[in-house]
Amino acid sequence: MRSGIEGKVMAERSYLQFIGGRPVEGGGGGSIERRSPSDGRLVARYADGTAGDVDLAVAAARTAFEEGPWPRLSGLERAAILNRLADLIRDNRDRLTRIEVEEVGKPIRFARGDIDGAVALTRYAASLAMQMAGTVHTNLGAGKTALITREPVGVAALVTPWNFPALILAQKVPFALAAGCTVVLKPSEFTSGSAFEIAALAVEAGIPAGAFNVVSGYGATVGDHLTAHPGIDFVSFTGSTRTGRRVVANTSTNLVKSSVELGGKSANIVFADADLDAAVDGALTGVFFNNGECCISGSRLFVHARVADGFIARIVERSKALRVGDPFDEATDIGALIDEGHLAKVTAMIAAGVDEGAALILGGRAPAGAPGHFCEPTIFDRVEPGMTIFREEIFGPVLSITRFDTVEEAVRLANDTAYGLANYVWSKDIETVLTVAARLKSGWVQANTAIDGAPQLPLTGVRGSGFGYEMGEAGFQEFTQLKTLLIRTGPRTPVFPAGAWPGPPSPADGRAASAI
Ligand code: NAD
Repeated sequence: MRSGIEGKVMAERSYLQFIGGRPVEGGGGGSIERRSPSDGRLVARYADGTAGDVDLAVAAARTAFEEGPWPRLSGLERAAILNRLADLIRDNRDRLTRIEVEEVGKPIRFARGDIDGAVALTRYAASLAMQMAGTVHTNLGAGKTALITREPVGVAALVTPWNFPALILAQKVPFALAAGCTVVLKPSEFTSGSAFEIAALAVEAGIPAGAFNVVSGYGATVGDHLTAHPGIDFVSFTGSTRTGRRVVANTSTNLVKSSVELGGKSANIVFADADLDAAVDGALTGVFFNNGECCISGSRLFVHARVADGFIARIVERSKALRVGDPFDEATDIGALIDEGHLAKVTAMIAAGVDEGAALILGGRAPAGAPGHFCEPTIFDRVEPGMTIFREEIFGPVLSITRFDTVEEAVRLANDTAYGLANYVWSKDIETVLTVAARLKSGWVQANTAIDGAPQLPLTGVRGSGFGYEMGEAGFQEFTQLKTLLIRTGPRTPVFPAGAWPGPPSPADGRAASAI
């Protein structure tokens, strides 16, 4: 079945930097060529950004924050404009979907879901623009009142990866804008198209010039300069753990607050009492969704030994039927991996699995000579904790299976990782779900579902998966900071009364408690 979207071959797209509300020629003048990972066609050119481009974008965002209308609009006005942006993303669904398929190589039905997700996230963020409430303290003692208000954090630097370009943009940009921040976004050098398209839609929706800037380019130039820039107030980064460490080091130079959403090696634990039909489907979704290029991929499957043989046989059977190929085909389940280098990394991991003694029970091959970067759905059984495929994030369609006998063993295996992003539990017993979830070291646990979520639910990692929140009220609050205003309304006891030294303040005097 072919896609309903006409003309897989779009005219090649070319993007300049987007600074101060319009496309501008970057200082370097060069461009990055993006070839489709599924057939090698040149699909887009993005400006190859420089430090100078970053400086310009940060200056534009700073001016828009200090002098522009955006932070001064009411929450209701910001919400109306963000809702218009959501409408425009929805109206451009087909074009944005096609761009994601062309640049990422993901199957079209998942790309379409990403754009729908971006619309939902933008609408939810719009609703939060009206929720920037603070608190008031009136019991601080006679004649004292305090207001704790929430303010936009300022200029936010946003850095995104290639696996969900529009969706992860929408986990950050509308939340930042809803809070009244202005932003400079650096998309991945592999997949920058949708960021430029959405920035242009934002201007059409009424977001003022300079509030939403996009600078494309490489991490070592644009990303590094942006996250170490003295003109920014906050960094929200999503990407690998290795780059996340570098970004956090950059932010330490100017003591800038950050939120870093990093890699994962999630466990999918299937207990013997689970709804096994649902769990089979969940296991497939968990690892093969988005080509396996998914931070919350359930790449380590733990199955109770009592049901393991039958369960694994069913997973293998279902996986054999998955269709690998043209991502524009509606029937495709697994498209092309992001690039040749990444495919080489995935196949090296598969080779390590074989070398280290895991049982390869399905797939394992990448068709040689094809113009695209495809990899078969691959399943290893009998995977041990010491093996590379148990420990490293593969970020491809590769499942590792380990059998367990007890709840204790399942929890220990699941937590035996440097990461802590997501985990999945399958059981009909609510007590098992609750006790296991409480013991899993991860920011997310999903029970009896896989790769699920909603804009209201915060995503966060622990350990090597990072810190800070994305989405939900907590994600919105990352883009805000508190200010405490203490007002004395009644008579005040002088600290330095005229005349003689009165002696130290007594605990009964409110001054003693402030310790200032
Ligand atoms: P990556 O770390 O290579 O790149 C992410 C972004 O950082 C890109 O825009 C890149 O250009 C930029 N970058 C690279 N070097 C930089 C530097 N020195 N300073 C600043 N920015 C720099 O990651 P990737 O390969 O694009 O994405 C895959 C990774 O992202 C996986 O590890 C995946 O688990 C993770 N991820 C995490 C989440 C989450 O929510 N936790 C979501 C999606 C992806």
